[in-house]
Amino acid sequence: SLPASPTESRSPQEVLERVFGYPQFRSGQEQVIQHLLDGQDVLVLLPTGGGKSLCYQIPALVKSGTAIVVSPLISLMQDQVEQLREVGVSAAFVNSSLEPERQQQIIQQLQAGKFDLLYVSPERLLQPGFMNLLTSLDIALFAIDEAHCVSHWGHDFRQDYRALGLIKQRFPQVPVIGLTATADSATQADIVTQLHLDTPYIFKGSFDRPNIRYRVMPKYKAFDQVVSYVKRQEGSGIIYCNSRAKVDDLYAKLHRQGFKCAAYHAGMDSDEREYVQRRFLNDQIDIVVATVAFGMGINKSNVRYVVHHDVPRSIESYYQETGRAGRDGLEAEALLLFDEKDAARVRQWIDQGERADRNAVELQKFAAMEAFAEAQTCRRQVLLNYFSQFSDTACGNCDICLDPPKLIDGTVLSQKVLSCILRLQQQAASQYVIDVIRGKALKRIQEAGHQHLSTYGIGKEHSDSYWHNIINQLIHQGLIRVDIVANAALRLTEAARPVLKGEAPLQLASPRLEFKPERKSKAP
Ligand code: ADP
Ligand code: ZN
Repeated sequence: SLPASPTESRSPQEVLERVFGYPQFRSGQEQVIQHLLDGQDVLVLLPTGGGKSLCYQIPALVKSGTAIVVSPLISLMQDQVEQLREVGVSAAFVNSSLEPERQQQIIQQLQAGKFDLLYVSPERLLQPGFMNLLTSLDIALFAIDEAHCVSHWGHDFRQDYRALGLIKQRFPQVPVIGLTATADSATQADIVTQLHLDTPYIFKGSFDRPNIRYRVMPKYKAFDQVVSYVKRQEGSGIIYCNSRAKVDDLYAKLHRQGFKCAAYHAGMDSDEREYVQRRFLNDQIDIVVATVAFGMGINKSNVRYVVHHDVPRSIESYYQETGRAGRDGLEAEALLLFDEKDAARVRQWIDQGERADRNAVELQKFAAMEAFAEAQTCRRQVLLNYFSQFSDTACGNCDICLDPPKLIDGTVLSQKVLSCILRLQQQAASQYVIDVIRGKALKRIQEAGHQHLSTYGIGKEHSDSYWHNIINQLIHQGLIRVDIVANAALRLTEAARPVLKGEAPLQLASPRLEFKPERKSKAP
């Protein structure tokens, strides 16, 4: 398509410069493009704004034939096609928003080879008639945007994405590129499986968002916390809650206090939701109180803060949701209000989920979220480690780095925990271990005869959340392992032995559990 002369096609570099007006590729783009041009499947993992689109748009222009781009959202398709037309690329979209006559027109132009790129919704693509039509055409490549939608492990599973594996079966010779801003490795593996990608070239960029400051506060009188927080903020913000009822409630309260805000959730009709989105985009309202429904396709660059009123179900969702802050690269903040009781409730929901086979993975994902919330070391390191992007330096831009926790001698505390786990034959999960340490008069403890253990009641002086925090630190330090397959029973590792025997001292962070009003200062 668009050859410079009939015999000679243009190089990726030329297309980058002449069509898109950029002097050089960003990290990864060139390799991805080359692999596609060589006919290989590709998976690209780059955060939002990382430059994924050019990865398939340039090969679409370099290769002959039409590139088919699958996109889940009509608004995204329209934006992309408009932008391409502005730079003189022949592109179009077909989806349910178009009149049948217009669709017919586009199909005819497609058959005539008029397009370098055609954007389609998954359900349109998968219509048998459309698939058959494509087999008779010269297809340059298939691009699956928001590819994580194909996976249950992603944060945005879509039923109609599931069948996209058909593409590779019907068009084994045509390269497929999946693109996502998801970095989670379970999701990554699932995308490859579900799309039937054939030994794909995988490019994963940096997922760090250095301008976002991560902060966690123990949740206590959450409404007061939210109000005092947003009062101190300037500019736009999003507040995420985990249910529609909470969204409505928090919205009403904030509204009564005079904040320019709106609610957003899937229970509202689409006109209403669009209206909220538009006013937010135009800075007519400052705050959107929302469920996770407020997500993909929100393209506002100057969101200054994202508050999580409730803990998300995975660190992946957390990353995506906080990632809506600071797209303009300026200072932004992500605040999580964390409560051990919320966490226990989430664990229970997951446990009661319909698909038992999925629960173990989801529990693990949530454990990672908890680890972030309870981290006593740099939160950005915890976050990036989860995405397998290890960094050995603390970030300097999270609450832990800015206000490090106090270190205490944790030898006796950890001996209490470790020996209790041992006395319980390494069969008990953390809450039960804590119940025993605190000497609770519970029926299940009595039935098991555990009130006679020497460790029963040796930790009465501290609260449940205090002990949870200690246990989590011991997990992070590698002394305890959670056996997910055995009902999250706590097991000791080799590293626990010297501490238990008193041969090695152990430092722990003093758990910060009480709510303390935050200082105003924004500067480090
Ligand atoms: P993503 O799809 O990963 O969210 P986009 O493809 O929309 O990101 O790209 C984000 C922005 O970066 C766009 O404005 C795009 O034009 C720009 N961009 C992409 N690649 C380059 C490049 N090589 N040089 C300069 N700007 C680029
Ligand atoms: Zn940090």
